[in-house]
This record gives sequence, structure tokens and C-alpha cells, in this order.
Amino acid sequence: SLKARKLSGVSEGCSDYISNPLSLRIFQWNVLSQSLGQFNDNFVKCPDEALEWHNRRFHMIEEIIEYCPDIICLQEVDHFNFLRYVLNTQGYTGMFFPKPDSPCIYIDGNNGPDGCAIFYRKDKYELVKKESRILEIWRVQSNQVAMLMILKVLETGKEICVVTTHLKARKGALLATLRNEQGRDLLNFLSTHCGDRPVILCGDFNAEPTEPIYSTLLNNKFNLSSAYADCKSSEEPPYTTWKIREEGEVCHTIDYVFYTKDKLEVDAVLEFPTGDEIGPDRVPSNNYPSDHFSLVCDFKLSY
Ligand code: NDP
Ligand code: CA
Repeated sequence: SLKARKLSGVSEGCSDYISNPLSLRIFQWNVLSQSLGQFNDNFVKCPDEALEWHNRRFHMIEEIIEYCPDIICLQEVDHFNFLRYVLNTQGYTGMFFPKPDSPCIYIDGNNGPDGCAIFYRKDKYELVKKESRILEIWRVQSNQVAMLMILKVLETGKEICVVTTHLKARKGALLATLRNEQGRDLLNFLSTHCGDRPVILCGDFNAEPTEPIYSTLLNNKFNLSSAYADCKSSEEPPYTTWKIREEGEVCHTIDYVFYTKDKLEVDAVLEFPTGDEIGPDRVPSNNYPSDHFSLVCDFKLSY
């Protein structure tokens, strides 16, 4: 069950993090688009009812608010209005940026395009600037996007730059090259807007740690580092998604939270459920509403 997931390192619960202006809990999740999940992905072991919106939407909300994050970064969002409406009751406000030609809109009964969204706590942050970008590959627009927010901590006036993205999916050498180019474009996007503020760059990069984009993102002037790897003796977790399609089981690490190492400190990360907890049919399932697990990281603003 979700409750089995633990934050390694620091205290459980929400109150510390809500009240402390020097701490920041970020929540990163590919929520699984409703249209793609139900009609496109073909999760062969997932019970149909688990994918029905009327069941799934409550699990989605539960998964997000259980950890009381300060900032929420989501991908594959195709029910932004629902999320905005519900998360508003929990003290959040947010924005959405759709993919230019989302595969969702070609599905019968779709709820619009999917895209990236960022939410933040209204009582802790003020929005300084919001930018969105259609990522370019060799200067040509792709079908992938990124969204950026500069947020000011109300109590201290300190600013942070939060960026989220969902890069091109699928396997292959050419696709890895395309993702790497999208990564380079992301870094230009950061250069244009982040200034010398601490950066948190998170998302579904659709790339394992061995792909070129992983080192591209870590080796540049931003001094970025991976929160999960840093918290777990320099190793990424074994998986951030685990699903069964017709072709077989897919279990690998493609979601990350990168951060500016000299300006932020990782206090803790949320553990992933074990194979036993997930169950033999993997995810999505009645217990886990997406084929990706959420990443939750506690940072201390150390600048
Ligand atoms: P991507 O290749 O980035 O993937 C789009 C979505 O498909 C992602 O959300 C991805 O999820 C999911 N996905 C990845 N692998 C599979 C799989 N094996 N089975 C089912 N879904 C999967 O797509 P683009 O946005 O670049 O769009 C191109 C794709 O979208 C084309 O492959 C085309 O099939 C489809 N498309 C169709 C259109 C049409 O019908 N006219 C128009 C536009 C797009 P995740 O990131 O979690 O892996
Ligand atoms: Ca997906």
C-alpha cells in the first residue's frame, strides 16, 4: 500500500515542512494521462476498473496530498481543471502547459491534450515569473514541453527556480539523441530564466541514467545533482516505473529530481514500494493510479 512508503532520514508527517521557510518538499510525478492510460498504453495486467476516471481520480489526489508537498510537478496531466479545483481546497494554486500535438486528442472521448503542471502552496510562496517552452531539437520545435516557475518564499524573500518536463518517449539510439538535444534546450531555457537562483529540475526524462542526457544535465554550469542518487550513496533507484505491456515487463529509472548542489541540501527522499508491495501485476493497479511512482524530496535552502 502507499502507506508503506517511508521518507528516509527525517521525520514523517507534514507540519515541520509546512511551517519551515528554509525547507522545501517537492513532489514529482508522471500521473499517467487518463486517455493514454485507459485507451492507449495497454497495461495488460491492470484491471479495467483501476483505470476508470471515477475510481482513479481519488487515488491520484490521495497520492499527492498525503505528503503535503510545498511544490508539485506533474506530467501527463489531462485533467488540469479537476486537479486545480481539488488542490485549491488544500491551499495550492497552479498552472498547466499542454503539449502542442498531444496524442491524447486523437483518442475518442479524450479530455483534451496532456501536458506539464506545477502547483505551489499559496501560503508559502509567491509567483515571481512563469515561463513555458516547446522544447527544440536542432532548433526545430518538438512535441515535448517544459514549464518553469520562479517562486519567492514569502517569509524570507528567497527565490527558487522550479522546472518540470516530460521528454520524448520510446527506446533506441536515435531517440536517446533526440532526448539529449531536448536536454540541451532545457539547459538554455534555464540559462535564460533562472539567473543564479537555486534550480530544481524534475520530470519524466524517459531516459535511464546511462543515456547521454543524464550526464548532459549533470555536467554544466548549473552544478546540478540528482537528489535520489545523492541520498542513496550515489546510486539511482532501481526503478521509477514498473509496468507490464504486451511486449513484457518494463522496470527502469527514468524520472529524476535534479537540484543545484551548492545552494540546496537534500534532507530525505521518499522510498519506492518494493516489488512485493507493488504486487505481481505491477502498476497501474487498484493501489497505484499511475505506471510511474512519485518522487518526493526534502530540501534545505542552504544559501
Ligand atoms: P512520445 O513518444 O513522447 O509518447 C507519447 C506518450 O506515449 C507518452 O506519454 C508516453 O508515456 C506514452 N508511451 C510510451 N511508450 C508507450 C507504449 N509502448 N505504448 C503506449 N504508450 C506509450 O510521443 P509524442 O508526443 O512525441 O508523439 C508521437 C507519438 O504520439 C507517436 O508515436 C504517435 O503514435 C502518437 N501521435 C499520434 C497522432 C495521431 O494519431 N495522429 C498525433 C500525434 C501523436 P511515457 O513518457 O510515460 O513513456
Ligand atoms: Ca505514459
